[in-house]
Amino acid sequence: MNPSPDTVEDAPVIAPPDTDTAPNLSFDQLPLAPAALANLEHLGYRQMTPVQAASLPLALAGHDLIVQAKTGSGKTAAFALSLLAKLNPRRFAVQALVLCPTRELADQVSQEIRRLARGEDNIKVLTLCGGSTMRPQMSSLEHGAHVVVGTPGRIMDHLQRASLDLAALNTLVLDEADRMLDMGFFDDIVVVAKACPKERQTLLFSATYPEGIASLSRQFMRQPQRVTLLEQHDAGKIRQRFYEVAPDQRLAAVALLLRHYRPVSTLAFCNTRQQCRDLLQLLRAEGFVALALHGELEQRERDQVLVQFANRSCSVLVATDVAARGLDIEQLEAVINVDVTPDTEVHVHRIGRTGRVDQAGWAFSLVSGNQMARVDNIEKALGHEIEWHLLSELQASREAAGKPPLPPMVTLQILGGRKEKIRPGDVLGALTGEAGFSKEQVGKINVTDTSTYVAVQRGIAREALRKLSAGTLKGKRVKVHLLQETAG
Ligand code: ADP
Ligand code: MG
Repeated sequence: MNPSPDTVEDAPVIAPPDTDTAPNLSFDQLPLAPAALANLEHLGYRQMTPVQAASLPLALAGHDLIVQAKTGSGKTAAFALSLLAKLNPRRFAVQALVLCPTRELADQVSQEIRRLARGEDNIKVLTLCGGSTMRPQMSSLEHGAHVVVGTPGRIMDHLQRASLDLAALNTLVLDEADRMLDMGFFDDIVVVAKACPKERQTLLFSATYPEGIASLSRQFMRQPQRVTLLEQHDAGKIRQRFYEVAPDQRLAAVALLLRHYRPVSTLAFCNTRQQCRDLLQLLRAEGFVALALHGELEQRERDQVLVQFANRSCSVLVATDVAARGLDIEQLEAVINVDVTPDTEVHVHRIGRTGRVDQAGWAFSLVSGNQMARVDNIEKALGHEIEWHLLSELQASREAAGKPPLPPMVTLQILGGRKEKIRPGDVLGALTGEAGFSKEQVGKINVTDTSTYVAVQRGIAREALRKLSAGTLKGKRVKVHLLQETAG
């Protein structure tokens, strides 16, 4: 929880604002342009989040920062507002660079920056990631961009080909720095940082604080200040229960938990990929609709997994910490630590995914006899005794619980997306118009370049599929199929 002894020398840790004294969380107090403030209001950002309140004044004053706060705390706006404030829209040169671990996070960050930039003149934000061809990216760069968001590998490629010029850069942001380190980007980040002008501001954001971050910051940050907001999740909303298991009961215990508590969406953390595979196999064999997120997935497969989990057509997502880092899932009823982690900080981060906003969440941890020391550490960090429960309580309810709960929604994949100019409203219109379904029967709609995913209630899936296939979208017939036929 606390920074390790060899973290950045002379980097004071800034405490979060004291909420008892009713801190001023208004954006007005910041040195932001009136148009930027008006835009924030328009976006419904009425108050700064704690991480924004702690970091924005320092960032806007030009300090280098190392900011540690959990997923979903509003870190993007913390750096986006700062880099936008320093931008000169009339200068057609890259003035800010944001490094992200994956294409999907880079896309999210670009979108948020664009939203926050709406108050100003035309600000161009360009995303540069692997998986897309270089040529179009190079011509986009030739047309000029104010802000570039990308993955370290692809940014390096552009630097090597001299298609990206960082001479006018004044802000470098490392987002999800811990995850970039996990993915082996350390050397690439150093190379990119060295290609930036010395006179610049560097902002580093991370959910955890592994040793590599101190080492990164020593190499290229200038007297960074540290802003740490760790225990921000409301412990009262997360109900933690620990279960002692024999090693060979571990995976079966996950199924017992799911049958007993029947959460709609569960994120199950495994310590290894092999464990992910084994658990997925067991859950599917028992009839759960489960998917796994791991490093071997292609981007398209990863997108499909995330879409299905977020739109509630997959009950259980099995993942390693690396694969799940940075995921922001709105509704998550339960987190299961299939193996309690030896790292207390990782534990706190894992369970912080549930119990968000105004709903309570469960956090279950399965512990074998030789892992008790891990729980002692967690207990110390929590500062209170933890709750132990017996597996036998769950076993007793096994018969009573009956069939595994099925997810409420099913995902239909429409072959056709942004390239075909399909928008969410077109799909919603098709389903609620001629097809005659109600709005409530249709869930999230995600449009990608080549596909559209629409969640519909399980009970109408076949009929919705038939009607969409028989009708038209944008005046054209479309191919539609059920995305997931793996279980159920
Ligand atoms: P993080 O990077 O810390 O995981 P994000 O930057 O992705 O978190 O923010 C999480 C969500 O909160 C986003 O949907 C964002 O639009 C929203 N958000 C951020 N700041 C505010 C704010 N001040 N008021 C309301 N919503 C906000
Ligand atoms: Mg983020």
